[in-house]
Amino acid sequence: MSLNVKVLNYFGGGWRPSGAAEYQDVINPATAEVMGTVPLTPAYEADQAIQSAVQALPAWRKTPATERVQYLFKLKNLLEEHFEELARTITMECGKTLDESRGEVRRLIENVEVACGAPILLQGYNSEDIAQGIDECMIRQPVGVCAAIAPFNFPGMVPFWFLPYAIACGNTYVVKPSEKVPFTMQGIFRLIDSVGFPAGVINLVNGAKEAVDTILDSTAIRAVSFVGSTPVAKYIYSRATANGKRAQCQGGAKNPIIIYPDADMEMATRITADSAFGCAGQRCLAGSLVITVGEARDAFVEKIGQAASSRIVGYGLEDKVQMGPVITQPSKDRIESLIGKGQTEGARILVDGRGARIAGYERGNFVRPTILDNVHPDSEIARTEIFGPVLGLMHVDTLDEAIQLVNSGRYGNMACLFTGDGAVARKFRYEAEAGNIGINIGIAAPMAFFPFSGWKESFFGDLHGQGMDAVEFFTQKKVVAERWPKEWTRKF
Ligand code: NAD
Repeated sequence: MSLNVKVLNYFGGGWRPSGAAEYQDVINPATAEVMGTVPLTPAYEADQAIQSAVQALPAWRKTPATERVQYLFKLKNLLEEHFEELARTITMECGKTLDESRGEVRRLIENVEVACGAPILLQGYNSEDIAQGIDECMIRQPVGVCAAIAPFNFPGMVPFWFLPYAIACGNTYVVKPSEKVPFTMQGIFRLIDSVGFPAGVINLVNGAKEAVDTILDSTAIRAVSFVGSTPVAKYIYSRATANGKRAQCQGGAKNPIIIYPDADMEMATRITADSAFGCAGQRCLAGSLVITVGEARDAFVEKIGQAASSRIVGYGLEDKVQMGPVITQPSKDRIESLIGKGQTEGARILVDGRGARIAGYERGNFVRPTILDNVHPDSEIARTEIFGPVLGLMHVDTLDEAIQLVNSGRYGNMACLFTGDGAVARKFRYEAEAGNIGINIGIAAPMAFFPFSGWKESFFGDLHGQGMDAVEFFTQKKVVAERWPKEWTRKF
């Protein structure tokens, strides 16, 4: 990927330089190099992209699903061919390690694979003789023009929780990536362009609020998928639904992990460290609070401290680096100030990652893994999504107390438990109020054929991304009751 380039929009089957009055720098968070500039696309241009999706809709909707998925098969092959290049772009603009970026590209491709099952996923159902001589069936039809608004932390995967399903179901699409990380979608749209989708089926609009609000207010857009922070998720959900659209809006998180005394402590610590510090804690499924039960406390605290201090932090493109930077300097400042806040609220800093300096990358936004012990359940540090490599520890005596703490949070994206006891695991699975549950798992990320769930303030809507939920979201059901009296049919 060449450096210092202007990011382009893509609509009507071609690349479109934006006439935006304002461009924003895209900065590599490890090196602080300016990779290029992204247009803050104005409303009239965002609307042009939407209109090209409108024009493409009638023909695409009539294209049989078996033909629509042929384009996705081609896209899957191109994504495989360009796998490494895409992973490198993600690392350069987003900061995660190359292995983490490879994991993201793999998850993206899996969603294309699942959407290729559209011919069977789209099937409806029917009943003969709902009354004498009358049959009834349900068929699925596309919703229309749909759009995704994506966050910075998974620039490739998140739009693909939605896009392949929408397209396979016969809708046309507009993607609005995060303005902080637009290059991954530039790379993916180069592949989309070489697949040769009919013009206007998939479109790309870069930018920020003005482009988003154009999508939310456009009467042509029938459904909006959003992933990002909770305040913005609430805003998008309210505005989209007030305008009569379908909306699925995934928000922030504060994910607890319970460590039960009979857990395999070696495994629990290793996996919890990966959960908390992987992607520098910038995952919506990052474990950010650990609740130890009873005597799990001493063994866990000692081991997790070692795991945090020994993590190798640096530029994700380099070998052996286990954790990259956070996305921006303001993000680093915010995380460091929250660590300080935790201390003033009475938590003990077990491992302090503030003030990190990485040789050769002194201008990078690095925060080393941090652990705060004895976090008070009512403190700000316990309630706020930090979105950085910071793990808070709490200690209780019983499983009931631990589950109560889990359920007292405002978010419900993920909750995990480490134990060797099936009955303890079942009770937790049954009672924990979260949409994604991990048992001896630290990142309970659903595979593409399961819904990417999320409850409470982590999700606004009903149908989630991925799998059958996505098929439901991107189709509307039509129910047909039919009667063919003999005296009519005999005429032919
Ligand atoms: P963000 O909410 O700042 O931005 C997300 C998108 O919304 C971007 O495309 C941005 O341009 C747009 N946006 C931001 N402010 C807006 C406004 N006022 N009006 C209209 N559009 C606006 O989120 P982020 O910082 O990019 O991503 C991190 C957040 O995403 C975290 O809170 C994380 O937990 C969450 N996230 C959640 C999930 C999930 O599955 N629940 C997955 C990934 C990320």
